[in-house]
Amino acid sequence: MFVPETIFVEREVLGAPMVRRCRSRAPDVPVVEIDDRRQLLGEGDVASSKRQLVLALRRSAFLEHCPAGTRGMACCNYLVMHFASNCPMDCRYCFLQEYLAANAPLTAFVNPEAGLAEIGAMLDAHPERQFRIGTGELADSLALDPLTGLSRELVPFFAARPNGLLELKTKTTAIEDLLDLDPCDRVVVSWSLAPEAVVATAEFGTASIAHRLDAMRRVVAAGYKVGVHLDPLIEHDGWAEGYRELIAAVAVAVPRDRLAWTSMGALRLSPGLRTRIRERFGPLPLLAGEQVPGLDGKWRDFQPLRVHMYRQIRAWLTEAFADVPLYLCMETPPVWEKVFGETPPREQLLGATLAAR
Ligand code: SF4
Repeated sequence: MFVPETIFVEREVLGAPMVRRCRSRAPDVPVVEIDDRRQLLGEGDVASSKRQLVLALRRSAFLEHCPAGTRGMACCNYLVMHFASNCPMDCRYCFLQEYLAANAPLTAFVNPEAGLAEIGAMLDAHPERQFRIGTGELADSLALDPLTGLSRELVPFFAARPNGLLELKTKTTAIEDLLDLDPCDRVVVSWSLAPEAVVATAEFGTASIAHRLDAMRRVVAAGYKVGVHLDPLIEHDGWAEGYRELIAAVAVAVPRDRLAWTSMGALRLSPGLRTRIRERFGPLPLLAGEQVPGLDGKWRDFQPLRVHMYRQIRAWLTEAFADVPLYLCMETPPVWEKVFGETPPREQLLGATLAAR
C-alpha cells in the first residue's frame, strides 16, 4: 500500500467522508491543513510530488472525452473521469511527468459524489447509448484505493447502471476494497502488462507481473471481468519471447469468458516528454529507438517495426483469446488496416461493442 510522507487537506473538506477514511486508514501519517491545493503548485520536483498526498475539492468537471480520439487517430469513444491526479508509481515512459509538470501534487479529489452526479445525468440523458468510462487517465485507478476506498462508491453506482461500464485500470494489486462488492458485470478491472524485463527497467514502484496476475485471478473469482492492455509495447532484446510468454500466462490466469477486451499501443513520447525523461533519468534505452513524429506530434517507433510487433502479438492474442475484442490505442487508420486487414470500425460502433461486453 502506498503510504504518503504527509497528507495535505484543504480546510474546506476536513469533514468529508473520504478525508476521514484516509486519515483512519493511515493514522500515523502527519496531516497538514491548507487553504487550497493550488498553493502547493510549483513546490518540489516530480519525484517529491509523488510522495505526498493532497486531499482536495474538485472544482471543475470530472468527465471528459479521452484525448486519444484526436488528430487522425482511430478512436474507441472512451470517456474518462478525473477522481485523482498523478500517481505514486514512477514509470519511466509515463506522460504525466510532463503533462502534470505544472500541476504535480498527487491529489485525490474528495467530492466523488459530484462526479457521480455528473455521470448519472449523462447516462440518464442517453439511455439508448452504451458508455465505457475509465478513471485511469491522469492517475492509476486503484493506486490510492487502499487510502480513499473510492471503489466502494464507484462499483455500486455502476452496478446499478445498465448503460455505463466502468473500467478501473491499474498496475497495482490494490484490489481489497473490490472483493466484497457485486459489480453485476458493469465493472472491468484492467491491468497494463509488459514482460518482466520491461517492468524491471521501466516501471518503478509497480507490482510484479506475477502479483498482477494473482490479483487478476482474485478479482475474477470475486465476479469481475478483466481487461488487458499491452500498452506501451516496448521493443527490447527478447521482446517477442517476452510478450508470447506473458500472453500465455494471462491465458492460464483468466478464463476466456471473463476477459472483456485486450488492447495494444505503441510507446508514444511527445518532444517535451522525451526531454523530461532525459533530464530525470539520462539516455534510457527506450529513447534510443528509431522514432518518428506522428500526426498528433508524438514520437513513435518507426511504422514498419510497430506493425511487425502488432501483427506478431495480435497472432498470439487471437490464438489465446479467439472471441475477445482487440483494439489499438492511439493509432492511425492506415496502421490499423495493416494490422487487421480492414479499416477501423466507426468510433461509436467500436465503443458500443466494447461497452456491451
Ligand atoms: S502506473 Fe500509470 S500513471 Fe502511474 S506512473 Fe506508471 S504509467 Fe504513470
